[in-house]
Amino acid sequence: MKKKILLIAATHGDEQIGLEVYRNLSARGLEKYFDFLIANPLALAGGERFIDCDLNRSYPGAINSRFYEKRQAASNLLIAKKYRYVIDLHEASSGTDDFIIIPRKKLPANNFLGYINLKRVLLWPEPRGPLGDVLSRCVELEFGLKNRDRRMIIKKATKIVADFIINAVNDKLVTKNKKTIYYVYGELLLGQYAGKINLLRDFKKAKIAGETFYPLLVGQYLNLKNKIVCYKIRKEKSPLVVSSVS
Ligand SMILES: [Zn+2]
Repeated sequence: MKKKILLIAATHGDEQIGLEVYRNLSARGLEKYFDFLIANPLALAGGERFIDCDLNRSYPGAINSRFYEKRQAASNLLIAKKYRYVIDLHEASSGTDDFIIIPRKKLPANNFLGYINLKRVLLWPEPRGPLGDVLSRCVELEFGLKNRDRRMIIKKATKIVADFIINAVNDKLVTKNKKTIYYVYGELLLGQYAGKINLLRDFKKAKIAGETFYPLLVGQYLNLKNKIVCYKIRKEKSPLVVSSVS
């Protein structure tokens, strides 16, 4: 039987969570239901986020590119296209919560959120280039590790992915599957913010210079060139239609 589920790890080579979850799923005998792909093997081997450029900004990629991640994106996409469900696992060292990321403006009509027992869903259309941007059957799961016990989070991530696999195989929707949808619409740069960064909390409403928003991933990307204090997100009002993929 051809497998319908692809689990992707190490899109960012400095994130181990995908490998850890994979080992746990294998130990539980679930490997017969899914295939596994290490998205960025060179970066993983070096313990680096990427080699030439961020793989999560490189799709659809180009097979003859001079950039390693662009070539890798093209070959990963060819593989991922063959599956009905693609889950890409990530971790955020400064994240305080766990959520589903759909790198699009709207939920795809054939989304399979109903199989995933995580409440928060982030629509995150910019910047372009995650796999889910070009392949609507791919979602990212992001697990936050700030002030949280890594073992517990890996256990939680394993359970969520294991339940997803069982639900998808049996076409069983999660009961009490209420989702809150957020839209990532901007970023707060260090130059725009005079306050204390530790006053901002993920998913806790903030008002800065007359603008009200929910912060996301506070402090995660301060070391980037453009020094992002946090992303700005708003709650989406539109009701969620969760349908299974047929
Ligand atoms: Zn990542």
